[in-house]
Amino acid sequence: MEETRRPATLRLPLLWRAGYNSGTAGTAPYRPAIDRSRPESFTPADRAVPTLKIHEYQAKEVLAKYGVAVPRGEVANTLEEAGVVARKLFAEGATGVVVKAQIHAGGRGKGGGVKVARTREEADRFAKDILGMTLVTHQTGPQGQKVQRLLIEETAAIDRELYLGIVLDRTTGRLVFMASQAGGMEIEVVAAKTPEAIFKEIIDPVVGFGAWQARKLAFALGLKPTQINAAVVFLQSLYKAYIESDASLLEINPFITTKDDKLFALDAKMTFDDNALFRHPSIKALRDTAEEDPLEVEASNYALNYIKLDGSIACMVNGAGLAMATMDIIQYAGGSPANFLDVGGGASQEQIEHAFEILLSDANVKAIFINIFGGILRVDRLATGVVAAALNLKVKVPIILRLEGTNVEEGRRILKESGLNFQVGATMKEAAELVVAAAAGAGA
Ligand code: GDP
Ligand code: MN
Repeated sequence: MEETRRPATLRLPLLWRAGYNSGTAGTAPYRPAIDRSRPESFTPADRAVPTLKIHEYQAKEVLAKYGVAVPRGEVANTLEEAGVVARKLFAEGATGVVVKAQIHAGGRGKGGGVKVARTREEADRFAKDILGMTLVTHQTGPQGQKVQRLLIEETAAIDRELYLGIVLDRTTGRLVFMASQAGGMEIEVVAAKTPEAIFKEIIDPVVGFGAWQARKLAFALGLKPTQINAAVVFLQSLYKAYIESDASLLEINPFITTKDDKLFALDAKMTFDDNALFRHPSIKALRDTAEEDPLEVEASNYALNYIKLDGSIACMVNGAGLAMATMDIIQYAGGSPANFLDVGGGASQEQIEHAFEILLSDANVKAIFINIFGGILRVDRLATGVVAAALNLKVKVPIILRLEGTNVEEGRRILKESGLNFQVGATMKEAAELVVAAAAGAGA
């Protein structure tokens, strides 16, 4: 259900947007829609625990290992591969195949990214329509997301479309298993308009998800007596998959029953806690950087915590809290930040140069604001890095700094003696005003 490239908002999971977990500021699998033009609407914690997103076909592969029933199907990266998979499924007796865009965002059905084909020819045509298209959904932002992969699956004879989800509820500090009869549709709308239609079981971390809880949810879903036991096993398998893979979100929408009383995960979304990926190399390998913002990918290669925004003032800051405050004060002074960038406590000169490169590859940037409180990162070292980067990269845009902390005098001297045109604000407020004026002067 989420993230975008170069949009006005960070696409964040639905239940949070719907107010589920409202009142908590931390990261959750479901976080509120972060308005990139309103940095005050997100907290460092929102990015301190970023999540690894994977495609539907990958989530289904993970779940299948835990015995969760998913329709037969395969991923296809080209039209040829799509044709081969569709032919194979028809040859094996499928009465239809569904051609599904694989992007890191939900709402594909409504956007024309999910189509059911009854013949091989139709499957070829839908694959051609969808592969390479720019799919716009309520989660991609208006610029959409290019479809680079397809999932071709056997169709299911859907009887009912239900909803299942597991998320961490930061209010209670516990996992919550959710279920709703209103599956297939946008769950945030359900959560906003008819929250009573979402059943929740809070999971005791010591005891785990009890079979009795799974039964309760199965009955709440209005399943037939003949489906209850299978549903209990299904839900328990989802829980096991979530726990053992250190997921941060698991969502099956729709979870379907078929006309012949079977249960399937027709769609699957999973995200994972980055901090736990070191113990799941196979999940880590599922990352698809083609779905991510290229600048953010580049930044992650240098261990820089960077998020692209859509303003004109680039920020280089050490510490997530200061980075947030910097974005706030830029807005307060009447400007808009081009990014969030935390170079961390112990940034090296090389990292600072890379950070500059990333900031400057954003064509919207009209001025750079460097706001450093030197602690572990000494101000003189930062200044040396900034001077080197400005020379090496032939930086043309104005650079405004606000420096405090360890070796600040030495840092100021290095900047002054560089002969380059840096402006230093005496306070954070003054520096913010200088940078906003500089950006405005440059035509922001
Ligand atoms: P999303 O829109 O990105 O959440 O994509 P989904 O995988 O949930 O698909 C959207 C909708 O397409 C589902 O709610 C179903 O109604 C429909 N759909 C998906 N797969 C099938 C299928 O195999 N058969 C039929 N008849 N409909 C399907
Ligand atoms: Mn779905």
